[in-house]
Amino acid sequence: MSLAQYKKKRKFSKTSEPKPVVKKSKAGNIYSIQEHHARNLHWDLRLEKDGVLMSFAIPKKPPKKVGLKRLAVQTEDHPLDYAYWKGTIPKGEYGAGEVKVWDRGKYKMLDQKKGKKYIIDIKGKELKGKYALIKFRDKNWLFFKMKN
Ligand code: MN
Repeated sequence: MSLAQYKKKRKFSKTSEPKPVVKKSKAGNIYSIQEHHARNLHWDLRLEKDGVLMSFAIPKKPPKKVGLKRLAVQTEDHPLDYAYWKGTIPKGEYGAGEVKVWDRGKYKMLDQKKGKKYIIDIKGKELKGKYALIKFRDKNWLFFKMKN
């Protein structure tokens, strides 16, 4: 896995975001969602996979109920330390604005078709239960809660 894109988008002399280091957590299944007050408010879903965080930007509040489908735009993989990072990305830098941790926990991969479909069991405080991430076009995925 590579963090080349992550690195390329940022100036680490200006931003205090985590450095691009590939590493695994002990259990290897960190989940988090950050609330990112960038130009457009959005929520960033992070799922640990193979030493990085698979990342998706969700323009609307993540769904807690079955039946609400959300667009999730895949973004560049992020380093593991990003999962619980909070702070303010300086004005003029990529993603400028405040980042807060909205939810945190673990997840379990229930089913996957790499790069196309992930069915996961989220064990967070805000989101709990079975969720689907289904790719439908380019970087665009659907994120929704499933019936258990
Ligand atoms: Mn973001």
